[in-house]
Amino acid sequence: MLVAKFGGTSMKDSEAITRSIEISRKHKASTVVVSATSGTTNQLIKLGELSSSEDASAPSLVSEIIERHIGILKDFGLEEDDFINDLFEELSTLSKGITFLKDLPDKTLDRLQSIGERLSSHIMTKAWNKLYPGENVEYLDAREVIKTNDVFGAATPLLGEIKYFASKLDKKKTYVTQGFIGSTITGETTTLGRGGSDYSAALFAEAMEAETLQIWTDVAGIATTDPRICPDAKPIKEITFKEAGELATFGAKILHPTTLQPAARQGICVFVGSSYDSDAEGTWIRKSCSEKPLIRAMAVRKDQALLTLTTPKMLNTYGFLDRIFTLFNQHGVSVDAITTSEISVAVTIDKKYLGASQFLTELEDLAEIEVEEKLALVSLIGNNINHTPGLAMNIFSGLHESDSPINVRMICLGASKHNFCMVVKEEEASVAIKRLHRKFITQ
Ligand code: ADP
Ligand code: ASP
Ligand code: MG
Repeated sequence: MLVAKFGGTSMKDSEAITRSIEISRKHKASTVVVSATSGTTNQLIKLGELSSSEDASAPSLVSEIIERHIGILKDFGLEEDDFINDLFEELSTLSKGITFLKDLPDKTLDRLQSIGERLSSHIMTKAWNKLYPGENVEYLDAREVIKTNDVFGAATPLLGEIKYFASKLDKKKTYVTQGFIGSTITGETTTLGRGGSDYSAALFAEAMEAETLQIWTDVAGIATTDPRICPDAKPIKEITFKEAGELATFGAKILHPTTLQPAARQGICVFVGSSYDSDAEGTWIRKSCSEKPLIRAMAVRKDQALLTLTTPKMLNTYGFLDRIFTLFNQHGVSVDAITTSEISVAVTIDKKYLGASQFLTELEDLAEIEVEEKLALVSLIGNNINHTPGLAMNIFSGLHESDSPINVRMICLGASKHNFCMVVKEEEASVAIKRLHRKFITQ
């Protein structure tokens, strides 16, 4: 049993969708999980914003989204049907409703975003059945299987329920379904967070006890770093779940960070490849790999803020960290990297949390806070990182160029044998990666 997932660029037009159908057929995928067509989720979010602010351009954006999808249907020689017209109607009604209420709650935004995946998966199902009528490929509404809690915008899957609903599926059939979306037990639409289609595919693979999960995207597998930063980034043939997980968590957009948890739990082999060049080697993600290089890859995570909390109350006492992290917990703020000294704690968080009004105010009751923004986490991912003499020296010498020095604002070393990460100014992050990539990968 095999689950295949196709991202937005692999669904962007009729040619891309045809390629994705052919890849699914060739590999005999039993469940095909797809993203919205490229750019559609961004447009739907924009539409939500325009609609809630009563912007006059909202209706034309609705038309643009509808026309683009009708265009793809036409390219397949297909007509609009009731299903797709209902989706278009839902799109326009939601936009009008948001304008009427002048409000865009996360619940409504999730419903709006879900239209992207519902459209693309419907088009793929129709196109497949037109190209290969005997194959009887079936559209599956992922909301009937991917059950989640009600944290709209970043819902947590309910594994027991997912397994239960997946067990009702006919294993002999081929399904085309949506990534990214799910529903609460009471049937309200949720999403798993941006880029969440990878995660959906992994959940389907786990629940359906698949042996393999394929993630088809626009690059031939995971590279040593983002090829947009370093065009000479090298493809990686094999990487462990742990390393790939760190890479994703620390910013490599190629995989949604939680994708590998279901695969690792179930021992499912994950393949990442390019739908544009499906015969290229790609990357296998496995429990263990034959080669364990010290530095396998590097990633950047932007939009970081550094909070430094200082208080003499921390000196020779206990319970302070507990009070701080209780507060982080209460406000649902996730910490990415952390260092502590005797009287201060420095943590990096995503800048989106700075908007949580009460969070900083309550923290101020516990300690003096300094907030620095426009930072990025630069991470090196590999093996035995915390037990290798001289590595930190090599990292800093690789980073340093006397005519344009980069200040490292904070480092995290020691917590993981797979990761060394540092905080630099956002504007210097790409240069930092270029220098480190040259030093550790291409040199
Ligand atoms: P999809 O729409 O298929 O989900 P994404 O845009 O989410 O695709 O992810 C693919 C992109 O991830 C690539 O185009 C590439 O720019 C970026 N990327 C970031 N880090 C890496 C990396 N280490 N290896 C390969 N691609 C990476
Ligand atoms: N369409 C969603 C997004 O753009 C989910 C995904 O593509 O993985 O974030
Ligand atoms: Mg993606």
